[in-house]
Amino acid sequence: MRLTQALERAVQQGPDLPATIFGNRTRTWAQCHERVTRFAGALRDLGVGDGDRVGILALNRDDYHEFQLAVPWSGGVGVPVNTRWSVEEIAFSLVDSGTRVLVVDDAFAGVVPDVLERAPVVETVIHCGEGITPAGALAYEDLIAGHDPVPDAGRGGDDLAAIYYTGGTTGRPKGVMLSHANLLASALGSSATEHFLVPGGRLLHTAPMFHLADGAAWVARNLVGGTHVIVPGFTPASVADAIAEYRVTDVLLVPTMVQMLVDAPETRDHDLSSLRRLIYGASPISEAVLERAAARLPAAEFTQMYGMTELSPVCTMLTPDDHGRDGLRRSAGRAAPHSELRIVDPDDEEVGPRTVGEIVCRGPHVMLGYWNRPEETATALRGGWMHTGDGGYLDENGYLFVVDRIKDMIVSGGENVYSAEVENALARHPAVAACAVIGVPDERWGERVHAVVVTAPGASTSADDLRAHCRELIAGYKCPGTVEFVEALPMSGAGKILKRELRAAHWTTAERAVS
Ligand code: ATP
Ligand code: MG
Repeated sequence: MRLTQALERAVQQGPDLPATIFGNRTRTWAQCHERVTRFAGALRDLGVGDGDRVGILALNRDDYHEFQLAVPWSGGVGVPVNTRWSVEEIAFSLVDSGTRVLVVDDAFAGVVPDVLERAPVVETVIHCGEGITPAGALAYEDLIAGHDPVPDAGRGGDDLAAIYYTGGTTGRPKGVMLSHANLLASALGSSATEHFLVPGGRLLHTAPMFHLADGAAWVARNLVGGTHVIVPGFTPASVADAIAEYRVTDVLLVPTMVQMLVDAPETRDHDLSSLRRLIYGASPISEAVLERAAARLPAAEFTQMYGMTELSPVCTMLTPDDHGRDGLRRSAGRAAPHSELRIVDPDDEEVGPRTVGEIVCRGPHVMLGYWNRPEETATALRGGWMHTGDGGYLDENGYLFVVDRIKDMIVSGGENVYSAEVENALARHPAVAACAVIGVPDERWGERVHAVVVTAPGASTSADDLRAHCRELIAGYKCPGTVEFVEALPMSGAGKILKRELRAAHWTTAERAVS
């Protein structure tokens, strides 16, 4: 099976139906097919052969959708580049992946000279957008106009389709090699539950398209038919405008975006009644936000996903019904149909229900491996199971509870403390805007629970006040022994807190393996 089959099918079934809506521009599936097959011809003329890497550094736009089809159609391998990275990090991913052709949009036209200087591996730059094409780059529309359509290169199944870089939360981002079969398995498995996208509906791309969370929904939308509604980035107003104007049926958000969408005063009067599926992931949602979101979006069903780039990315799903069941709201749900799940101890022995261990996963969605990193691949995939590096437990009914990244767990006085649990308690204090909890060296306890806190504008609190607040919610040994107040927390390009940077101030690498 090829990723591009979905395009052929969409054209047969509804050539005049909209494939993409981007601002005031709509392109039909027939137009999309024409443009994709011509752009694939251009890529081949530029020397892109089977397995060659083609990168894209662009905000969300309709051309991104075409890129994601044209590259596999040409036989190439797509490399979506994280738009929040610095030039240094962008260059790293291009050099690491050996990307020869790079597509950029207006937002990144200006950094092309810097990128090329640091990543000489890139031979050709293609510019898509409304602005002026930078010197030395080729214009996307000229390439489409100037090339005839070509037949599909025929790659599929276990052939490499894309290299997605991980978020870089725990270390240097790793290139994850995903095959056509990997990406299709995750999208088909998720779609088989009926809790994913509405068939024939309209999916809003507001999460970044370079991230595989959006990529997986993109694959599924192509498979189950319908339209991609695309906005360049996330703001509550851009999302509410797009939902109201284009009658969007499904959207993928992280919990903080859900909260912003439902709480922003500027979205109060929008008609959001078309929204039927709200899919969120990266972390559980707080009950308070869930209740407000349910009240604001009465027609929408909520599905939580747990996954990672290495799993194409879907591993488990918490269904809309599960959200209403007591005790399950902190769960990440049960294994999706394509995904087999276990919890193991450090010796890789399976543990029983309600025992915390490492989450491991097996199935057709498990990556081919890390690009150019055979040792890390062997460690991650040992015994045929993907070792997620996440700690969690299963209940008697197979519901997964993710407790923490294993690297973030704290062992204090012989007791395990999960940083996420302490952070949840701290976050309920009204003066806490953001926080991170790490383990720091402690002579008496081995590790001490240390909180790094950003206070809300105008609010004030103290370490004693926060400790007293936590003491009402969690056991004493879990409460922060020390608290540090900062202006802002270090964040990764994907918006996750970089705890390794916070830890680095307290530990030497010899003391604790901090990558
Ligand atoms: P890196 O691997 O480079 O450190 P990363 O792990 O942040 O970066 P991603 O693959 O984007 O990169 O993120 C996957 C991780 O996100 C998971 O391993 C898990 O820790 C977290 N995660 C995803 N979904 C959920 C969820 N529903 N609940 C809790 N944690 C989640
Ligand atoms: Mg990871």
